[in-house]
Amino acid sequence: MTCKEAFQEISKYLDGELAEDFKHILEEHLCKCAHCKVVFDTTHKVIELYCDGKLFPMPDLVRTRLHEALRRKYREKAL
Ligand SMILES: [Zn+2]
Repeated sequence: MTCKEAFQEISKYLDGELAEDFKHILEEHLCKCAHCKVVFDTTHKVIELYCDGKLFPMPDLVRTRLHEALRRKYREKAL
């Protein structure tokens, strides 16, 4: 998995659309790639903050902002 692919999977994760198989592939990449790990951890924290561990849909505005922040982060790295 490339960082670009990882980014796409993290985006899906944000939307709660990431399939179990891909979670494992993503986790594997995160073990090897510090950059994606930081992005994922940040995303994860924000999701937990909003969901409080329950299955609340994230407010659209929050999700949109997260997606934008992710895209910016990956662009900075010129991937
Ligand atoms: Zn990566």
